[in-house]
Amino acid sequence: MQDKVTVIYIISDRRSGSTLLENILSKSMQTVSVGELAMLKGHIAKEGPGEIWNWACSCGKPVFECEFWSKALSGIYNDSFETKITWPYKSSKVLLSSLSGLNAKSTLLKLISTKKNKETIKILNMLYKAIANVSGKKFIVDSSKDPLQGLAVTQCPDVDAKFIWLSRDLRAITFSKLKRWKVNKRSDKKPLETLTDSFFFKKVCAAAINSINKSNTIKVDYEALAANPQAELDKVCSKLGLEKFTAPAFMELSNDHTIAGTPGRFERKPIAADNSWKDFYQEHTMLNTLGKVLNSL
Ligand SMILES: [Zn+2]
Repeated sequence: MQDKVTVIYIISDRRSGSTLLENILSKSMQTVSVGELAMLKGHIAKEGPGEIWNWACSCGKPVFECEFWSKALSGIYNDSFETKITWPYKSSKVLLSSLSGLNAKSTLLKLISTKKNKETIKILNMLYKAIANVSGKKFIVDSSKDPLQGLAVTQCPDVDAKFIWLSRDLRAITFSKLKRWKVNKRSDKKPLETLTDSFFFKKVCAAAINSINKSNTIKVDYEALAANPQAELDKVCSKLGLEKFTAPAFMELSNDHTIAGTPGRFERKPIAADNSWKDFYQEHTMLNTLGKVLNSL
């Protein structure tokens, strides 16, 4: 029997440090990091997030001119190519079942079992195998973040799926989303709505993680990771079966072929916790209190 491909999938909200974690894991000799695989189709079609870097691979080339992706996609890409699992994010049923924990697993699995998603899962399965072949690496790091996309990875027949749930203080996520939207002029959501939406999303992440076998999951807090990368990395390695390696002191790209990620990833910078959100809450005390409560739920 052929060995399965191991995928280390990062589940998190946006603005939670998933690119940092993906970048740290990419420094292992055993891994290849692909960034957010869900965004590959968008990067080929030049649609959706990615306009800032013109939907290029992190090597700077368009996907089909990149030496890595052109090989990985060979024989797989066609007119019905899709890499993103779709689900009704606003569905109150999902959110409620996630909150109650009742039937959460079957509800979530049903959401990814549409005809379209089943086709996407077949493509993802082929892609992971192709990525393992082209890179020659045993572990693929996928920081697509979306919890339902993560569950879809468990449905890939040739994949051994392992998960890191990267969690961050909801107040920090809220502040960071508002700041980014201001730059992109993408949304006019208010702070309170952003905080409660982030809380619901966290609950969907928790429900997805809880429906996966515990031996294949680990939770990491962004704050702990940024404060002491080596200690958190050691825990991740021993849980997910990676050989231990030295955590980098800087976040930087080096010969990577990653798709999407935080817009700041092209700059080399020291790994340190981003606490710029704290000042904002000096002036938003009610929101601060609510955020603290929601963090604890
Ligand atoms: Zn590339």
